[in-house]
Formats: sequence, C-alpha cells, structure tokens
Amino acid sequence: MTEWKKISGIISDLDGVTYRGDDPIDSAVEAFQSWHSLGLPYAFVTNNSTKSAEEFGEKLNRMGIPATPERIITTSAVSAERLRTLLEPKARVMVIGAPALLRAVEKSGFEIADEKVAAVIAGLDREFNFEKLEKAQIALMGGAHFIGTNPDRMLPKGDGFEPGAGSILKAIETASGVPPVIIGKPQPHLISMALSILGTDPKSTYMLGDQIMTDIVAGHAAGLPTILVRTGVAEEGPFPITPDFDIETLASIPVMMPNDLQET
Ligand SMILES: [Mg+2]
Repeated sequence: MTEWKKISGIISDLDGVTYRGDDPIDSAVEAFQSWHSLGLPYAFVTNNSTKSAEEFGEKLNRMGIPATPERIITTSAVSAERLRTLLEPKARVMVIGAPALLRAVEKSGFEIADEKVAAVIAGLDREFNFEKLEKAQIALMGGAHFIGTNPDRMLPKGDGFEPGAGSILKAIETASGVPPVIIGKPQPHLISMALSILGTDPKSTYMLGDQIMTDIVAGHAAGLPTILVRTGVAEEGPFPITPDFDIETLASIPVMMPNDLQET
C-alpha cells in the first residue's frame, strides 16, 4: 500500500460504507463528523434508486452524519436527467422501479406511460411482474431507448440477499434483445457528477467504497484514487483492479486539514 497523500475531497458510497441497511457504522459516523468539522468536502454516490437525495440525506442525518441533498448523487436523479439528453420535453416514458425513480422522471418533465413510450427506464422494482416485462419488451422492440439505473445483481438483506436492479434489467434485455445504457457504478457518471459538484482536484479526491467491482472500478474510470473499506459486502475475486488503499474501517484514514499532507 502506498503512503497517504493530500486529500482534498471524498466521494463515498453509502451502503456498506456509512451504514449497513439501517445500522450506522460507528467508525464512519465519527470519520464524516470529523471531516465535516475540518471542512473537508465530501459527496455521496449511490446505485440505490429507491430513495431520493432528500430521503438519503435524512437517513444520514438521523445517524449523525452531516449531509445535504445537493451532495448526494442517486441513480434515480441521474438516470432521469439522462432522459433529457435523449428525448423531447414531455415525452412518454415507461418507468419500472420504485416511487423515487417515478418521481425523478416526473420531475424531469416527462409523462409516465406504459404504451407508445419513447424510453423505458428501469431500476429495482419489488413489484416487477410479467405484464411490466411484456410492455417493456414491446416498447423496446419498437425502438424505445432503454436506461438502466444500475447493474447490481443482488443486494444485502438481513443476513442474506435479494435480487437487485441488474436482475430485472437482464430479464428485460433477454425479452427484448436490447441492452440497457447503465447509469450507476461501475460506470463513472455518478462520480463525474459528484466531482463537478465538489469542484475539487481529481488527483486528490478519493473514491471510497466497499465493493471493488462497482465503487473502485467506477472511481478508477473517473480518474480518481480509490479506497476500499472492509465494512460492507465481501466480494469474491479475481478482480480486474487493485484499490490504492485497502482499509478495515474509516478510522484508518488520517484525520487532517486538506493541506496538511504533501501534494504529489
Ligand atoms: Mg456499497
């Protein structure tokens, strides 16, 4: 492992880094509190499309982590935003996903529909069924755009797991023959957006996550140094990439003012 260098900003994953499900990770609460009081800027990026930035902000604040919605980048918001670059204003869009995704698409000015749509946008939908699959198939085979919030195959749940958005995307892809454009990690879109909001130097802004195949790959693709923290989901290798730092908890990151350490 290399030596710690100057940290001018942090872009962090949520689940497995700040909390596990509904349980805060104590070392993370302490770390973010000290970064907040030192004025070290940070933002959060999450593949989870089932909550809005406001809802994630409230969850973090309840756990004692200072956070504002402007610095929480979600796949629901960024996926809905992507539609604006593809479609005419007020176009008809089919949404397969949680209410947060539906609200984000509505907020972007599109009409929610399930026939004659210009795009299908899909994420984790716990009420996914055959009828939705069939309607998405018809739309995509008719030439609609296909946006997927994130490719996660499974999600941690209690002591086990449940299917993630990626499982739903694969079903739709198999039915229609059309692969989705993925917005979430391991693609770098969320991280690039967080970086532009922070306005910090990418060379000294660290991507922090608990999963190599999503967080670390995405951080690297966005050009950032990366930190893997072992408080979340354990993954099985082999891995295509090695994080710059590999730590047990966030307590291992030296607390410092942004300019205390040497620049590279
Ligand atoms: Mg995670």
